Amino acid sequence: MKIPDKKYDFVIMGSGLGGLLCAYILASEGNSVIVLEKNNQLGGNLQVFSRDKCIFDTGVHYIGSLDEGENLKQFFRYFGLLDNIKLKRMDDDGYDVIRFADGKEYKHGQGYERFIGNLVKDFPDEEKAIQTFCDKVREVCKFFPLYNLETEISMDYFLSEEIRELNAYKYIASLTPNVRLQNVLAGSNPLYAGVKDKTPFYVHALILNSYITGSYKLIDGGSQIATYLSKVIRKMGGDVFKRKKVIGANYHEDGKIAEVLIEGGEVVKGEKFISNIHPAVTIDIFGENRFLNAYRKRVKTLENTMSSFTVHLTFKKDTFKYLNHNIYQYNVEDVWAGIDYKEETWPEGYFVCTPATSKSEEYADSMSIMTYMDIRETAEWDKTFNTTASPEERGEGYEKFKKLKEDKVLEKIEMVFPDIRSKIKSVYSSTPLTFRDYIGNYDGSMYGILKDSNNPAKSFINTKTKIPNLFLTGQNLIFHGILGVTIGAFVTCFEFVDRNKLMEKVKKAK
Ligand SMILES: Cc1cc2nc3c(=O)[nH]c(=O)nc-3n(C[C@H](O)[C@H](O)[C@H](O)COP(=O)(O)OP(=O)(O)OC[C@H]3O[C@@H](n4cnc5c(N)ncnc54)[C@H](O)[C@@H]3O)c2cc1C
Repeated sequence: MKIPDKKYDFVIMGSGLGGLLCAYILASEGNSVIVLEKNNQLGGNLQVFSRDKCIFDTGVHYIGSLDEGENLKQFFRYFGLLDNIKLKRMDDDGYDVIRFADGKEYKHGQGYERFIGNLVKDFPDEEKAIQTFCDKVREVCKFFPLYNLETEISMDYFLSEEIRELNAYKYIASLTPNVRLQNVLAGSNPLYAGVKDKTPFYVHALILNSYITGSYKLIDGGSQIATYLSKVIRKMGGDVFKRKKVIGANYHEDGKIAEVLIEGGEVVKGEKFISNIHPAVTIDIFGENRFLNAYRKRVKTLENTMSSFTVHLTFKKDTFKYLNHNIYQYNVEDVWAGIDYKEETWPEGYFVCTPATSKSEEYADSMSIMTYMDIRETAEWDKTFNTTASPEERGEGYEKFKKLKEDKVLEKIEMVFPDIRSKIKSVYSSTPLTFRDYIGNYDGSMYGILKDSNNPAKSFINTKTKIPNLFLTGQNLIFHGILGVTIGAFVTCFEFVDRNKLMEKVKKAK
């Protein structure tokens, strides 16, 4: 489809959650908007794919903060999402189960009372440490105004040296000498690809708090969020295009972007431009020389979070019981260790979930098992590029590599589900290259730029750029995840819309 020849108020590049939410907010404030997406499917990490008629999520397995009065619930109300997506509440008693090689399981319960109660049962002598940990989680969350639907600037935590430099591992270790409890408290750290000597405690706190306060799965996949948002954006007069890869720009004499260039020759004119693409890639699209040397260097050398090798299983009909919780399985005691894996012992830990479907509440039709994988493992196929919009075989060697890794994961999953092989219909997998190609970053990073308690300022990304009418949004701005990206979209839109009035609308949304 051809793009209309008109000048838009906002041209948004990338239809990840951040891009779509910005388009929604700006269109509902009366602006003309267009979203340009390179893929066949909208949504970035919200994309799903299907195998053997089973729907698999690529980047959203569960979302938090959906209890009444919680932040994401109110944001979702504002976007009209609550009435238009199918959600399933996860187990109250334990939405996440942290499991170790000795078979012991520890449940993270919904609501602080259950969370604390469960852990005190498991660690009766550690009530004080568990309580102190939960108090600190809630205290730290208060430093983030938008997280609390408040309107002051969102980086208030930067005013507190203690908060921004507090390291998650070290803080938790300071609470108790009980190593198993330390590991249970940090057990869901793959949610942010935690690094022992780098991840700040606030990252752990914001994410853990969100899941304690209302964990839900999306029934039949996360793509329903993108489908709904794009429908409403179009209803408000906006345009949303797939298969439109932005590859460059033409500029006015004053340095402002006049139009972006689309692969294949089309151009799109605009007043302001918002990039939902990783900042390092954004710099390359818009031209290195347009950014300050120091900024360019910093952004390009920032460490990104680890990538993933994910195994997707489909099950024979009605053989594997649906799990209404996730499992974080650790084959080594230290829950932070798996990210520095050795080939011989990989995978040292993994995340397991069975997607919620409208087909059955009793049986799962599929399972996803996520493990860490460094993109350097797939260096041999680095030059290949494979997406549905731009298909290319990566070759036999790649398929063999995947099969080898799938077998290793299956061997380990049998430790948790001994009879699982007899129930499996088919095995599929995705590698860091899959994430790289579908999301359009350079290294298949799951959650974008890594936050570092040793150097908090380094990973700070401003929505404004040196190009006067180019702005950034998405998971690299403030925070990753559905909640983090939602907050980031508001931070971006505050550049154009009165923040107090906008947040009043959010708070009053019914
Ligand atoms: C494996 C995995 C599991 C996850 N699990 C969860 C979870 O359970 N819960 C949760 O809350 N979060 C989870 N996340 C994180 C969450 O999915 C992301 O933080 C969020 O979706 C990122 O949104 P974004 O706005 O940054 O856009 P992205 O999803 O990064 O999308 C960017 C978009 O830009 C497009 N694009 C790139 N280059 C171009 C170009 N040149 N032209 C046009 N378009 C372009 C891409 O195709 C893509 O659609 C997970 C992520 C991963 C990878």
